[in-house]
Amino acid sequence: MARIISVANQKGGVGKTTTTVNLGAALAFEGKKVLLIDIDAQGNATSGLGVKKAEVTEDIYDVLVNETSIKEIICDTTRENLDIAPATIQLAGAEIELTSMMARETRLKNSIKEVEKDYDFILIDCPPSLGHLTINAFTASHSILIPVQCEYYALEGLSQLLNTVRLVQKHFNPELRIEGVLLTMYDARTNLGSEVVGEVRKYFRERVYDTIIPRNVRLSEAPSHGLSIVDYDRRSKGAAVYQALAKEVLLDE
Ligand code: ADP
Ligand code: MG
Repeated sequence: MARIISVANQKGGVGKTTTTVNLGAALAFEGKKVLLIDIDAQGNATSGLGVKKAEVTEDIYDVLVNETSIKEIICDTTRENLDIAPATIQLAGAEIELTSMMARETRLKNSIKEVEKDYDFILIDCPPSLGHLTINAFTASHSILIPVQCEYYALEGLSQLLNTVRLVQKHFNPELRIEGVLLTMYDARTNLGSEVVGEVRKYFRERVYDTIIPRNVRLSEAPSHGLSIVDYDRRSKGAAVYQALAKEVLLDE
């Protein structure tokens, strides 16, 4: 049965998609069968793994709103062992449409049941909000991986995120836990970076991964080639750190 992990933080630009794509690819590189589910209407994980959004006929919107089988939308990516349930801009309507739907919180969970036996890991790339889509992801997941950008106000907003986790635990998914907190976009040249690392470690303690993701230009270039860092530049620092993160995640089996 797959281990299901949501990658979430309601702040945009903190490295959620970069982490979902490259952790997924690094786990696949380790021989694991991985499914990535894109639930952000921007579809950056989808295009970042080489799927042409213009050629996608049905996406995760159809799964959530029209009850299309998730099996019908899953497609291959540019990385072996890594599949994706894609998202396109169509998903932008789902947040409002779900509001009036029956069992709106459990739609993703129910659709994942069809494929959870086929994978070792299912990673969900969440949108930058705490709306119905994120609630669906949390309800479907065993745990949440929280990327935190090494910047001022890094911890800001995390109490809202943790409140949402508690609400989902109370009403839909009592087993939900924090998988880990990942420090991203670390810049060793500034004092700020190490201050933020200290602050986040003080707050989240042993839940913070030892692996810290530095700023690495190769990580920002890879998506425009439709490739994960493992396939774009395996010798880069970016590839090494996401492979180290994958090993930490695997240690926790
Ligand atoms: P989110 O999904 O949280 O909005 P992204 O993963 O899309 O964040 O990252 C935001 C931007 O920062 C993207 O342009 C991405 O390529 C870039 N980026 C993310 N992580 C790194 C990194 N470690 N080094 C350099 N650029 C990064
Ligand atoms: Mg994103």
